[in-house]
Amino acid sequence: MDSHHLNVIKYCPRCGSSKFPAVSNKSFKCNGCRFHFYINSAAAVAGLIFNEKGELLFTRRSIHPHSGMLDLPGGFVDPNENVEDAMVRELKEELNLEVVSLEYFASCPNEYEFSGFNVFTVDMAFIIKAKTLEGLTAQDDISGYEFIALYEVDFNELPAKSMQYFVKKLQHG
Ligand SMILES: [Zn+2]
Repeated sequence: MDSHHLNVIKYCPRCGSSKFPAVSNKSFKCNGCRFHFYINSAAAVAGLIFNEKGELLFTRRSIHPHSGMLDLPGGFVDPNENVEDAMVRELKEELNLEVVSLEYFASCPNEYEFSGFNVFTVDMAFIIKAKTLEGLTAQDDISGYEFIALYEVDFNELPAKSMQYFVKKLQHG
């Protein structure tokens, strides 16, 4: 990560001083109150759901950034929530999908812009067994979903580099 990515933070979150320079590629130190503020990765989850033909489920984003593009279902882990519960919750919220079991697959760091603010995440992917793939509904921050064969995925339509990494790893698996 490059330190210029951190320049969006201008004020000390503790005392409000504007003398708040980046002092490393992951931290700021306030010249007023001496607070040393670290940027951490937010935990996020992505679900890998296959149909009986071996095609992978992708969602269509309905929100910024990358509205209209492909994504994998998932989202941020809430404070005080474990990763498995976040995966189950996100699939219920986005697709009304009921998880029977999940198995850890891989992780990949990601970075995206949200309200002019660079957000760093570490995305963790799980292979999901669903109770049923009948009656799924696109809701929350997605506008639809579709199943795509792994070798037919158009990476120009899948902007998140972490999601590209998971699909490529599945292709070579
Ligand atoms: Zn301060």
